[in-house]
Amino acid sequence: MQSTVDPRNVSLPLEKTPLETYVPPAKPSLIGLSREQLAERLGDIGVPARQRKMRVQQLWHWIYFRGAEDFDAMTSVSKETRAQLAAHFTVARPEVVAEQVSSDGTRKWLLRLPSGEKLERPHEVECVYIPETDRGTLCVSSQVGCTLNCAFCHTGTQRLVRNLTAGEIVGQVMVARDRLNDWADRETPAGNRLVTNVVMMGMGEPLYNFDAVRDALLIVSDNEGIGISRRRITLSTSGVVPNIIRAGEEIGVMLAISLHAVRDELRNELVPLNRKYPIEQLLQACRDYPGASNARRITFEYVMLKGVNDSLDDAKLLVKLLKGIPAKINLIPFNPWPGTAYECSDWDQIEKFSEYIFNAGYSSPVRTPRGRDILAACGQLKSETEKLSARERQALRAMAMTD
Ligand code: SAH
Ligand code: SF4
Repeated sequence: MQSTVDPRNVSLPLEKTPLETYVPPAKPSLIGLSREQLAERLGDIGVPARQRKMRVQQLWHWIYFRGAEDFDAMTSVSKETRAQLAAHFTVARPEVVAEQVSSDGTRKWLLRLPSGEKLERPHEVECVYIPETDRGTLCVSSQVGCTLNCAFCHTGTQRLVRNLTAGEIVGQVMVARDRLNDWADRETPAGNRLVTNVVMMGMGEPLYNFDAVRDALLIVSDNEGIGISRRRITLSTSGVVPNIIRAGEEIGVMLAISLHAVRDELRNELVPLNRKYPIEQLLQACRDYPGASNARRITFEYVMLKGVNDSLDDAKLLVKLLKGIPAKINLIPFNPWPGTAYECSDWDQIEKFSEYIFNAGYSSPVRTPRGRDILAACGQLKSETEKLSARERQALRAMAMTD
């Protein structure tokens, strides 16, 4: 066995460890429940059936519109009901264990979540807020770690994996609004919100946690609550083909595809899920994506890796492949992380690539890396407690090679 392995030459396993179990806290949080589920919980604690609809409406407003952090704040709910609710439930969000602010204004929160009882380490995810002049985008995680192993992604090297619950996904948006003082009744007037867009581009593969992501995004986009329109929510997937159409039908948000390579041979290495769902199948799912149109284009993400996928031939093939799909292409300069063998393409190569695509009629913005100084940029997210040592990484690759 060689002591140094170039990840480009190694086929990594499609998926690694099984999902960890989740042990819910003693008093569950109401965050993440649909209206129907809220009504059921109220029934469980003895709220009479005739009152439930009204109570649900009140709770919904306090939790998702005003951002109430406890039941005491819900002054339109009777004192008795508030006490009853507080005895059984909370409106707790994930616990914020660290906040980092980048020199460019990007903020990253490290959130702690309940884990299985026997695990030594707590579960943690990261959530990033990126302010821009015309919008504020929150990058939300869907899993602790990721079961997939994209060769250039930091999150992919994390061992511990579990699906987030719908509440933990909605909770990230709520934490951001809490920390930025961005609720309707606080300093920022409604209509001038700081968090205007949500991208499911944090840790994890959202389409491998379909139900929770769907339930969460339906809450995030609900008009009477958090109210971020579906057109301002983007779900990014590495290509879980069977769930792409479902996402269009059941969630109706904007779609982004992590393409990164235009030939199956290379994509098999960079995005190992390609071995299960190759490029042609993936693009067919995009052609069939409900609601895709020139006004609602699918974003194709393409990470620029020096000498790997950044030639003009690649750009040409990319344009050819996307023919007939309402698409825009988002070029992402590779964000390096400790231990990676990849390098970001040279700037003039990125420009040439972008120019070719632009001349072929595609909008091809280059995503400006944000928050690099706090490891908050794309693909750099990874919980501090979860770093694999170089030895462990090597063992993982060795395992993959003997598969
Ligand atoms: N799992 C989903 C969403 C999270 S990743 C997916 O893969 O689409 C969000 C985007 O960042 C993806 O396009 C991913 O491929 C990209 N990415 C991952 N690592 C990166 C890195 N080191 N530099 C730049 N982009 C990266
Ligand atoms: Fe998972 Fe996305 Fe990273 Fe691939 S790029 S390992 S799918 S988070």
